[in-house]
Amino acid sequence: MNVAVIGSGTMGNGIAHVFAQHGFAVALIDVQQPALDRALATIAKNLDRQVAKGALAEADKTAALGRIQTFTSLAEGVAAAELVVEAATENAELKLQIFRELDRHAPAGALLASNTSSISITRIAAATQRPAQVIGMHFMNPVPVMQLVEVIRGYATSDETTARVMDLARRLGKTPTEVNDYPGFVANRILLPMINEAIISLFEGVAGVAEIDTVMKLGMAHPMGPLQLADFIGLDVCLAILRVLHEGLGNPKYAPCPLLVNMVMAGRLGAKSGEGFYKYTAGSKELAVAPRFAG
Ligand code: NAD
Repeated sequence: MNVAVIGSGTMGNGIAHVFAQHGFAVALIDVQQPALDRALATIAKNLDRQVAKGALAEADKTAALGRIQTFTSLAEGVAAAELVVEAATENAELKLQIFRELDRHAPAGALLASNTSSISITRIAAATQRPAQVIGMHFMNPVPVMQLVEVIRGYATSDETTARVMDLARRLGKTPTEVNDYPGFVANRILLPMINEAIISLFEGVAGVAEIDTVMKLGMAHPMGPLQLADFIGLDVCLAILRVLHEGLGNPKYAPCPLLVNMVMAGRLGAKSGEGFYKYTAGSKELAVAPRFAG
């Protein structure tokens, strides 16, 4: 089966990796050739890691890499696709434009999925002439490792499309979970208010960074505390999702903490900028708690 993946960044390369590993022919598409080159290098490195752990045979790694072709032209890349998974930058206008193009160039029977974290699937589907075939396929980061695929039904998504995408996710060894299309879906609707509450607790001086994360790690058996997780997701991404929840659901309980807003304005975006609630230096994580944040 032919699958096209649009966008070869963090998520796109992981999605291409798991489809190729499970025998699908993958067309990986990006507007930038260097992004495609980086994605292939990342996929090879991650497959090597699976081989080193004994989870994958060397021959299967070579076969998986051989199933991935790269394209900078969307029209060429999706020409033979039976499923397209869009994982381009999180920008509503960009995604609407991509889905209009997909509708023109992908075969009439192709299913069109988006990996969006927060943009309405119903809105994306309405940009096409085939809204019954449009669906959310929300993989988690890192894709080769994480078990869940949140499958999001838009208002017009058909039962058949949903059943086929649930089955495809299972063929990747994942556990698909069906949810309806409301702001934040389920994963981010529940996760982001928890992260926001952790930031509010810090902001109000209830406790310091290390204390809040320790309570949630040791008390709730979370693998990482909410402030560290926010740093890994990216504080700008957390803020954007909270704004989608706040505007889309119209409830003040989703209002982003002013400290989060300030940190994003100051360019403290978490691991990717080198500093968020923690400081990140050359791969090692070091606590950086400014005095006013101390509990
Ligand atoms: P990213 O910035 O790492 O990668 C996005 C890629 O899309 C870039 O390589 C960019 O060149 C490419 N792109 C931009 N416009 C394009 C176009 N018109 N055609 C083809 N490619 C194009 O972003 P990411 O973190 O991989 O996120 C991708 C999507 O996945 C977003 O919708 C995001 O919300 C969602 N998502 C991200 C995470 C995460 O943890 N990063 C988790 C779940 C879902």
